[in-house]
Amino acid sequence: MGCGCGHEVRGGFCANCSRELLYLTALRYCPRCGVTVGEGIHADEDGCFECPSTMPRFGQLIRVSPYAAPLRQAIIRMKYRRASNIARYVSNLLAEAVGAHCDVDSIDLILPVPMHWLRRLGRGWNHSAVLADGVSGRLGIPLGDELIRVRNTPPQVRLPASLRQGNVRGAFAVTSPAGIRGAHILLIDDVLTTGATANEAARTLLAAGASQVTVAVSAKSEAPTAYSRQISGAEIA
Ligand SMILES: [Zn+2]
Ligand SMILES: [Zn+2]
Repeated sequence: MGCGCGHEVRGGFCANCSRELLYLTALRYCPRCGVTVGEGIHADEDGCFECPSTMPRFGQLIRVSPYAAPLRQAIIRMKYRRASNIARYVSNLLAEAVGAHCDVDSIDLILPVPMHWLRRLGRGWNHSAVLADGVSGRLGIPLGDELIRVRNTPPQVRLPASLRQGNVRGAFAVTSPAGIRGAHILLIDDVLTTGATANEAARTLLAAGASQVTVAVSAKSEAPTAYSRQISGAEIA
């Protein structure tokens, strides 16, 4: 049901895609910008050589996998076909990644990256909220709705990286600062590309009194390397 590669199985990915996912989730990545980094390359809470010159406002980034098959197909199906069984599967993977990479007991509240109501109306649901709900249930951490989107920004995917931070500036607001004051917040989104949206959401939460923001995404979109192009067949085809 999830991988969409043609080898349909009930309740998850087929054996081939599960193996692929296992490999991708085990890749080492930078805990600030999320790019895949090899063993022996410096990457810690201070970042890596690929990190943007201005560090993000969130303290740590957790990802399940790079944005690549088979998770990529699952995310697309979840997002555009409102596939709740896939959302459950992806949220379980996300909860596991959070458990493996940070101290779950230190998290006070889970918040999804909100969608503007106009866009939610068009799409029928906010998939990040569905993921956040799943992670909240799995980890036993309360789910909040204090963060809202006050401006309907053009989709980031249509903009070059240089314009993305400006596009989301002032896009979020906190409805009740009392609910997040001093809290360590786990912010959930589906795919992180430049990180501009998550960064603006984190900035808004910290300005409203949150003590710490950790971001967890199901996938990190990164520029393909010569090797990844080769294994995906793009250069062999
Ligand atoms: Zn498959
Ligand atoms: Zn980095």
